[in-house]
Amino acid sequence: MKNTFYTILDFFLPRYCAGCSKKLSFGEPLICSTCFDDIPPADPDRIEIEFERKFERSNFVQDFLSAYVYESDGTLHNIIHSLKYNKKFRLGILLGNKLAETVKGINNKWRIDLILAIPLHHLKKAERGFNQSDFIVKGMANSLKIPYSNKVLKRIRFTESQTKLNLSERAQNVSGAFQVRQKKKINGRNILLVDDVITTGATINECAKVLIENGANKVYSSSIAIAE
Ligand SMILES: [Zn+2]
Repeated sequence: MKNTFYTILDFFLPRYCAGCSKKLSFGEPLICSTCFDDIPPADPDRIEIEFERKFERSNFVQDFLSAYVYESDGTLHNIIHSLKYNKKFRLGILLGNKLAETVKGINNKWRIDLILAIPLHHLKKAERGFNQSDFIVKGMANSLKIPYSNKVLKRIRFTESQTKLNLSERAQNVSGAFQVRQKKKINGRNILLVDDVITTGATINECAKVLIENGANKVYSSSIAIAE
């Protein structure tokens, strides 16, 4: 009986840490504590500098928060890779829970009515099968007890990879790429936009602009991590 129980649970739960691939004993979360301790947190000074660099000038994003700093060879890279390419959806929920703790922990000024993920283009979503940020948003919404939607914001234009573009090229690349589909859901509301890793903030800025232009009151933004 006990063996069957573990066999069933083992089937549904990943048994290896998504950060270091070490075997997890049953009952351990998806990421071992050594790995979680290994991820550098985004400290408040860093967040303030990033806010000024990415969002202050365009003035569409009210405030910004990130839980961690992303290192391209770091533990968080492995975790996000597992979520995106190995379909470890529960990792998204777990990261969403962590980000919600960060939002609750240092910030009680935010009044959020609705949480939205940065949407993927439907072709990209069809190719991958899902939007990883939807799971992060679900985890956040559950922890914060705030509604979320993946229907309000749509990516209407397929955008090329941004990795080789500079800041202004990125802004141009995403210009006009998003559309609000359910205007009344955002009218006069405070929206929290969520992404997995923020690099330049160009995509967030563009989404925030579209939301404000369509009647949102305030737009906050948060990400699991800030890119190095
Ligand atoms: Zn680990």
